[in-house]
Amino acid sequence: MSRYWSDVATGLTPYVPGEQPKVLDLIKLNTNENPYPPSPRVLQAIQDELGEAGSSLRRYPDPNSEGVKAAVARFHRIETNQIFIGNGSDEVLAHVFLGLLKHSLPVLFPDITYSFYPVYCRLYQIPFELVSLHDGFRLQVDDYCVPNGGIIFPNPNAPTGRILGLADIERLLQANTESVVVIDEAYVDFGGESAIPLIAHYPNLLITQTLSKARSLAGLRVGFAAGNADLIQALVRVKDSFNSYPLDRLAIAGAVAAYGDVAYFEKTRNAVIASRERLTTGLTALGFEVIPSAANFVFARHPAHNAGQLVLALRRQNILVRHFRLPRIEQYLRITVGTDLECDALLKALGEIE
Ligand SMILES: *Cc1c(COP(=O)(O)O)cnc(C)c1O
Repeated sequence: MSRYWSDVATGLTPYVPGEQPKVLDLIKLNTNENPYPPSPRVLQAIQDELGEAGSSLRRYPDPNSEGVKAAVARFHRIETNQIFIGNGSDEVLAHVFLGLLKHSLPVLFPDITYSFYPVYCRLYQIPFELVSLHDGFRLQVDDYCVPNGGIIFPNPNAPTGRILGLADIERLLQANTESVVVIDEAYVDFGGESAIPLIAHYPNLLITQTLSKARSLAGLRVGFAAGNADLIQALVRVKDSFNSYPLDRLAIAGAVAAYGDVAYFEKTRNAVIASRERLTTGLTALGFEVIPSAANFVFARHPAHNAGQLVLALRRQNILVRHFRLPRIEQYLRITVGTDLECDALLKALGEIE
């Protein structure tokens, strides 16, 4: 703590991201990155943008990333005024909390979920209430049918990987018309059905997605929100009071190209899904209990092994996985689905631990 800090800075409890080590020969299964590189068209588009660098990087980028909006609108068959683009979905979520979820009633989210949500609530002084997941980390819609200042959860949920069906989401929207319902679909491409088509019917539904996971672009920082034009306007107002140019020129070029290569997207996400099923089978054979996952990670525990010790043993084999020392989940490992080769190395290392 420094005497020069504001009370705000002093009082913060920042989000702690998974480790990004500098050593290269690690098998990195701790931050849900895609094991495959982005589409070659993304690299070409960035190079083309750079090729004109003399004229292009000198200039500010398009403040509203209209090209990305158009690409997302085409892919999801919605209008560009139903889309907000941000510097990663984390930034989009930050604007969502301030612009749509800050009210006198508390925001509701699961007790086990993306740990950035309470961080934003504390930053923006938004009241929140944790809603306990049920056995097997199941989310029950009825728990959310109470007065609230907003509702947010990832679907599939993180770090559990569990998915809630669209029928349940519609039931929630029908019971909750007075506040905004945010579905964070960071992992939806790995086994969920997007709720984006529902935005035509529910003016209080907002979906967020990211290019970080299924499109292999965590390093480029692009995310978006989709919802009624009126919700989007609130986000634009916050953005234009914070940073008018959230996406740089290279990110805009790369993101547009990513949406242009549907075949590559399908191929790589299907490969991840197949590896997830293989990994689940392998872990189960080693005695792990694996929560059924619709994401690019699995959440698993071993009845006979302490999770903290497993993390250390894997680390000695240069394998990183994520472990949250939090109530209810301290015996679980969150393991990102890597290539089959990486998953096999993990299974081999786990098999050698006695
Ligand atoms: C990874 C992740 C995000 C953030 O994605 P970025 O676009 O990289 O900021 C948001 N929500 C959840 C649940 C995530 O796991």
